Amino acid sequence: MTDPACIFCKILEGDIPAVKVLESPDCLAFMDIGPLAEGHVLLIPASHVETIDKMSAAGAAAMLGLLPRLVGAVQAATGCAGVNVLQNNGPAAHQEVMHVHFHIIPRNPGDAFHFNWPAGKYPNGRIEELAEAIRQELD
Ligand SMILES: [Zn+2]
Repeated sequence: MTDPACIFCKILEGDIPAVKVLESPDCLAFMDIGPLAEGHVLLIPASHVETIDKMSAAGAAAMLGLLPRLVGAVQAATGCAGVNVLQNNGPAAHQEVMHVHFHIIPRNPGDAFHFNWPAGKYPNGRIEELAEAIRQELD
């Protein structure tokens, strides 16, 4: 299943080129052409799904099953000190291509990529309240 308007589906169909690093029946990994660091790779499912919450468990398992090998290969090939695996889910989370993708981003001390990580605190009882709401949604 592909979406003709989707740039990642066009890559999957071979309609636009990509520098591929790993292909399976369920997914594709290729070099990001706008890398945050050299060796920045994208991992996508082979069928069009907009956000990760809409993926099947089997589809997600197939894709994430490739992560250890892919992250290890990126680390070994680039010599980076660490890797961020980043999945932006939805436009509010800076997802720009609406086809699920994981960024594998090589990291080194002092590199140019920074997070704004404004860790907060819960008021009394709120953490349990939210956990219960999430547990109920899981059922
Ligand atoms: Zn797509």
